[in-house]
Amino acid sequence: MARTDVIVLGAGIVGTSIALQLAKRNMAVALVDRAGLGEQTSYGNSGVLEGSTILPPAFPSSLSALMRVALKQASDANYHMSFLPWAAPWLMKFRAASRPAAIMETARINRPLFARAIAEHEALMLESGATQYLRRNGWIKLYRSDAAFAALRKELDLAREFGIVVETMDADGARKLEPSLSSVFRHAAYWPAAVSLSDPLAVTRAYAARFSTLGGITLKGDALSLHRSGSGWRVETAEGPIDAPEVVVALGPWAPDLLEPLGLKLPMGFKRGYHRHFKTEESAPLTRPVVDVYYGYLITPMRQGIRVTTGAEFAARDAAPTPVQFDRLRPHLDALYRIGSRAEDRTWLGARPCFPDSRPVIGRAPGQKGMWLAIGHAHWGLTLGPVTGRLLGEMMSGETPFLDPKGFAAERFLA
Ligand SMILES: Cc1cc2nc3c(=O)[nH]c(=O)nc-3n(C[C@H](O)[C@H](O)[C@H](O)COP(=O)(O)OP(=O)(O)OC[C@H]3O[C@@H](n4cnc5c(N)ncnc54)[C@H](O)[C@@H]3O)c2cc1C
Repeated sequence: MARTDVIVLGAGIVGTSIALQLAKRNMAVALVDRAGLGEQTSYGNSGVLEGSTILPPAFPSSLSALMRVALKQASDANYHMSFLPWAAPWLMKFRAASRPAAIMETARINRPLFARAIAEHEALMLESGATQYLRRNGWIKLYRSDAAFAALRKELDLAREFGIVVETMDADGARKLEPSLSSVFRHAAYWPAAVSLSDPLAVTRAYAARFSTLGGITLKGDALSLHRSGSGWRVETAEGPIDAPEVVVALGPWAPDLLEPLGLKLPMGFKRGYHRHFKTEESAPLTRPVVDVYYGYLITPMRQGIRVTTGAEFAARDAAPTPVQFDRLRPHLDALYRIGSRAEDRTWLGARPCFPDSRPVIGRAPGQKGMWLAIGHAHWGLTLGPVTGRLLGEMMSGETPFLDPKGFAAERFLA
């Protein structure tokens, strides 16, 4: 096989975007996955490119919110009791990272990455012929109480500081944008600069196809076969072994399976999430993603119909599905929107790979020469794939990165 400069392990949106960005820099890249391209976490998400996201999700700050979750009454979160002893250290770190000062630090570190996210997607979509999946009509977050809306103040102030447009409105205003919603909420925030995808899987596949036209090769193989070979790395694939001086780990929630045996233990946790597809009622069109903030679910039009996605479930990555949040959210969804019957029986489950400080790790793998990491993109991997690829491309080719990558270094967990 011809010379390979870089092996990219994992062909979700993150790995595929990286492979494409590296190929555009004239590197010879092999993209390796054990399954179909983009078919795991990058398939089932809500499809929002959240370039306007400012504040990461925080640990519940009020006792009542915590009790709702603890008593399994909340539709926005669920947990497996048996998993709590394992999750406790991560949850403590997440709680520490949810202090107001820490949240602000994360918002400021993440901002330059998010600010370039949509432009990088748009550039790749244009050259990959994928712009037909792009909707440039923002997303709407609904608030059912005055108190919940008042809590948005800090985020609105930051939006102004960062130059992000957000329009606040009452239920009538939001219903002008989405007439199919009923007025069970009091306030809404419309983020017009966010964009969304009607088919995230098709977009990853389009990027992979573009990667191939630039000479990139895509192979089936198990990342766990990675080992040192001379001064570089070797991975076994269905077409034989591949060697390269550099390897990028983009295995999403499966990254610890490869990294921990190498002695690289990073605090990755999993916020599992589900989706179901429903038929679109002709009399209830929906044109963009809508979030019912208090009840913690999202509805969005997708190729398959209306996709309903859930908030976080704290459970072992590979534990059996427990989609109880659908039962909890259903009465509130029915009150908000006339949803059709199920479009398919399947309930999809995925795991958001999350570091406690809600920042991905992008950069060198400490102590592993020639290994790079692009993992832990949490709630925003779909958004951040292409911009992660650009940043990594700049770092790997010795260019000046467009942002200071220090805030995304794995070393922050190893000090
Ligand atoms: C319900 C839900 C809603 C979401 N909504 C949004 C949203 O609206 N916007 C947004 O930006 N993000 C969203 N996310 C988050 C986003 O989906 C993820 O952050 C993103 O998909 C992670 O991409 P990835 O490429 O890192 O991981 P993945 O897509 O999981 O890709 C990892 C790849 O590694 C491969 N792999 C694993 N182990 C091996 C192995 N041993 N050998 C070879 N290959 C291997 C897998 O097959 C897979 O293809 C959501 C997530 C969920 C669960």
